[in-house]
Amino acid sequence: MKIRRIRHKLLIVLALALSLGFTTIAYFYTRAVETSILADYQRTLHRLTESVAMNIETIMAGQHAEVMPDFARRLKNLPGVIDFRIARVDGTEAYLDNLTIDQVNQKLGETKFPRRKDPAEAPKVFALTDPGVANAIEGEEVILTASVGTGPAGTVVHFYDPIPHTVKCNECHERNGKVRAVIKLTTSMAEAERDMMKARLQSLIVLVVALVLTMAITGYMLGRFVAKPIEDITAAMKKVTGGNFNVQVRSARRDELGRMAGSFNKMTAELQRSYRQMKSEQEKLYSVIQGAQEAVIVTDAGGEVVLVNDAAEDLLGKKIEQIRAEGIFNVIDQPERFRAMLDDANPAREPVLFEYKGRWLLTSATTIRDETGTPLGSAALLRDVTLEQALLKELARLSITDALTDVFNRRHLDATLGIELGRAIETGLPLAVVMFDADHFKKFNDTHGHDQGDRVLQMLGKMMKQTLREYDVPCRYGGEEFVVILPGTDREGALHVAERLRLDVEAMKVDGLTVTISLGIACFPLIDAKTPEALIEAADFALYRSKEGGRNRCTLATPEMLAG
Ligand code: GH3
Ligand code: MG
Ligand code: MG
Repeated sequence: MKIRRIRHKLLIVLALALSLGFTTIAYFYTRAVETSILADYQRTLHRLTESVAMNIETIMAGQHAEVMPDFARRLKNLPGVIDFRIARVDGTEAYLDNLTIDQVNQKLGETKFPRRKDPAEAPKVFALTDPGVANAIEGEEVILTASVGTGPAGTVVHFYDPIPHTVKCNECHERNGKVRAVIKLTTSMAEAERDMMKARLQSLIVLVVALVLTMAITGYMLGRFVAKPIEDITAAMKKVTGGNFNVQVRSARRDELGRMAGSFNKMTAELQRSYRQMKSEQEKLYSVIQGAQEAVIVTDAGGEVVLVNDAAEDLLGKKIEQIRAEGIFNVIDQPERFRAMLDDANPAREPVLFEYKGRWLLTSATTIRDETGTPLGSAALLRDVTLEQALLKELARLSITDALTDVFNRRHLDATLGIELGRAIETGLPLAVVMFDADHFKKFNDTHGHDQGDRVLQMLGKMMKQTLREYDVPCRYGGEEFVVILPGTDREGALHVAERLRLDVEAMKVDGLTVTISLGIACFPLIDAKTPEALIEAADFALYRSKEGGRNRCTLATPEMLAG
């Protein structure tokens, strides 16, 4: 199991540290108590053997050695005493045989002490090789040896206490060895061990209680002052990363965690402020986009359409769901051309004019990138320029059209004739121009009024458009003079067209009135004109000849005519 919460980690570290600390204290405390109990026990034994030794001395001084076996037996009845023996330094038990009595009587030179009537063989109380015995017979006051193995009576202790030589002793006994005798006291440590066990139990209880209390208090303090504030900040951070900036944590305290909470609150406040600002900017931008006349479509980095304004729906005649489903490349049903606009290899990024459902859409598309160049999405802006396109077309038409007669104007004549003559020179194909001028038009104006003259000019324009072929170019040269360019038309063809024009005009009635025209024809290559002006000049010259010749007629310009 993984421990994830700092609270639990702190508690575990705390529990380990406290357990180790308290166990160490309890161990040394218990050891000290046990040592003191043992020392006490040893002192008690020593006091006992010391008092026994004093009693023996008193009994012996009173020359009542015969009571000693009984004295020793009685001592065995003391609580905790298992065995009590008085041994000579050779290890044999005293007061049972006649060995010592004989030795004393011999030293005194008289049978001062009567021999025992029923002497027993003195058993060995200890062997000289027994542990501790060597020290005892060397006169060390106290030797404590704990026996191996414990029975119901607890640990058995053999206590050797040497009885020193005294002046009184030496009156009767030979002074052999360093000590007079050794008392061997065998006792049970059960009581002392019970005390030790009690001490151990007590320290265990104290240990557990102290551990639990310290853990509880420290755990509570750590939880409240460390873990809780960290948990609060962590939970708040989680909310912030989830997009909720409206989070504050308690920061009443003045320690590092309190300051951290304060900084966190400042940070979220700042985030909130920035978020609100961003939101308001976004809303502004959104309303600008929504209110725009242009269609706007935006995608995210994955190409998903994320914004479509109302104008886009209207302009494309598609619902937002359809635009989303089809994707940005298909907004105008020409995915390849649209994709090319967004292609990185296309650096120009000029707006492109698309014809879509009978309308003209000026379209820009671009990939939006961040400052590192990473694409964030793409955006397309489409503007309906159908009206502008129509106006442009009309403007272009007007710029080459004569307002009164609705045929081409002088500008168009100059431009077209230049092109056509160039082409004719290049290809060797024929080219003709017919120039005509209304006869006595000044007089007509004077007689019928200028407006009536205008109506005649309008009718001449209309008539030209009806009579001429589609690719012929009727132009108003100026005033009541006109020029018709006839591409690919040779002399005969041109004469034919001119004659038809003359006849049509002659037959034309405007408000019951008639006019006639005089025409001059110049044909390339008959007239080897190098410039449009030269061809016009030739036609003008032929026209002049028609006027001279009596008007209402056609004249073909010839090189001879021009030369003459
Ligand atoms: P001719 O047969 O020799 O050509 O005689 P004409 O009177 O037509 O002489 P000219 O060509 O010199 O006269 C041109 C006249 O055409 C002068 C002017 O009153 C008339 N005119 C020129 N432009 C217009 C126009 O736009 N409207 C009207 N109503 N008259 C025009
Ligand atoms: Mg004229
Ligand atoms: Mg005229």
